[in-house]
Amino acid sequence: MLDKFKEASQKMHFIIVGASIAGLSAGGSLARCGHTVTILEGDTQDACENRPDIGGVGLPPNATRLLLQVPGALKYLEAHGTQINELKFNDLHTNEPRGRIAFDTRIISDLGAPYYLISHHLLTGFLRSFALSTGCKFRYGFRVASVHTERTGPAVVFGQNGERLECDVIVGADGTSSVVRDYLYEQQQHHHQPEASRDDDDCADSDDENTSTSKSASYLPGRYSRQIVGGVAMIPVEKLEADPELAPLLTTKSLDAYMGEGFCFILGRFGSHYSFNMASPREANPNERDIPWRTSIPAHEHLAQFVPKDNARLQRLFSMCTSANYSVQTLKPLTSFVDMHGRAIVVGTAAHCAPVHAVHTASLPIEDCFTLARLLERGNKISEENGLSAREMLPLLLRGYNEIRTPRSFHLSDSDLLALTMASLRLPEGPMRNALFEVMKASLTAKSADEVGDNGQVAVDWVDWVEKANYDAQDAVDEWWLNYGQYAVERH
Ligand SMILES: Cc1cc2nc3c(=O)[nH]c(=O)nc-3n(C[C@H](O)[C@H](O)[C@H](O)COP(=O)(O)OP(=O)(O)OC[C@H]3O[C@@H](n4cnc5c(N)ncnc54)[C@H](O)[C@@H]3O)c2cc1C
Repeated sequence: MLDKFKEASQKMHFIIVGASIAGLSAGGSLARCGHTVTILEGDTQDACENRPDIGGVGLPPNATRLLLQVPGALKYLEAHGTQINELKFNDLHTNEPRGRIAFDTRIISDLGAPYYLISHHLLTGFLRSFALSTGCKFRYGFRVASVHTERTGPAVVFGQNGERLECDVIVGADGTSSVVRDYLYEQQQHHHQPEASRDDDDCADSDDENTSTSKSASYLPGRYSRQIVGGVAMIPVEKLEADPELAPLLTTKSLDAYMGEGFCFILGRFGSHYSFNMASPREANPNERDIPWRTSIPAHEHLAQFVPKDNARLQRLFSMCTSANYSVQTLKPLTSFVDMHGRAIVVGTAAHCAPVHAVHTASLPIEDCFTLARLLERGNKISEENGLSAREMLPLLLRGYNEIRTPRSFHLSDSDLLALTMASLRLPEGPMRNALFEVMKASLTAKSADEVGDNGQVAVDWVDWVEKANYDAQDAVDEWWLNYGQYAVERH
């Protein structure tokens, strides 16, 4: 099929900015469809690899299901990841469980894919092999300064070294300080002012988030903070194994949130490392600045102040952390993930308003890239049948990308922000806090949403979790195609 595709000259050249989870997933899935892919990464190859200390990522079933299509993925995840079956919410001081969302064997089997936690560098290592095996070309140490698109002519990428590179489509996978996202943002400020101002009004008083697609792609409801402060330290599992009190944590099949006041810890085993992750959804203090996340600082520098003195377990764990990263993420909602000329798009953290320290920051990029590739596959088939070139199909396909990804982005970002906000709720000891814990309690013994019983909100959250994990990014493309895409081609 690949050869036939290449012969049919439907090939386009994609330049991808960023070689992390989003860039590598995009590269592999686009090159696998037969396109030419160049991946530009600002950091050196050495800085991107061999970094077990930089963090861990969660792969809920919606992401694992897609990754399992890559040859060798299951074996790799089994060997290097940790399969979990629940998310737990614990008291920050007593470690007592307050609530949970379980993915027991039956749910996981229904969902058709497990939930894994894996060290960031091992996942990117796997995705890099995937991208290489499909023929992607890499340029490390190439920092993109700016991009430019027009409706006709090539899309252009300018390097900080003065180099100018041309392509058909630019894919911005350049993370929290994305140059491509800033280009789209700028365009949207200048050319869609009325829509942008409407978003701002809505952000101030949001009660209608389900209509987000018609407003803003990564629409950010007003109830959330626009900044998330957070830090991660990774502890080699050998250190916990040597400590009889902490060793049992390594066999726990859960991701554990410890609920603080204004922040929370998210802890769990990510294969070879135990992750000590702090997230605080709030404006940064003057002494907190965004440090590039591959840059390590001493763990005690920022994180120590959050570890409660009365919690011996957390104190003990923290004493094992040597280096950490610490970041201030500023959420910048876009009105569209595609530029006005249909020649540049954003994927991953560059696109979404999801907090980087939460559950879906790795699954959003993976879904983005498989969605894009499926659309291009669809487009290729139809363009061959209708005698259209790939470039002629491009505006429709990128429109599809935007229409499919915007509601999903909103849904996952909203739920991650809500979960972080709830886990970090500033509730003083007293009746309000007791009432919250009482509401959550029903989830501790339940095995399914039904068993959460009359506890309305907990049951709703539980069903929502399962629905999010059940989402299939490729089915979403097929549905969009059936309902919209095919008719748009017929009208062409
Ligand atoms: C500090 C931190 C901790 C995290 N912890 C967790 C966690 O515990 N659990 C979890 O699920 N997720 C976590 N994440 C999220 C997750 O690692 C990333 O957000 C996820 O990898 C999404 O990947 P991405 O490819 O979209 O962005 P990123 O991983 O941020 O990658 C962007 C890439 O683009 C490159 N780049 C940026 N600008 C340029 C430029 N101008 N030119 C060329 N290259 C450029 C960067 O060097 C980088 O390689 C964390 C993220 C951060 C930042």
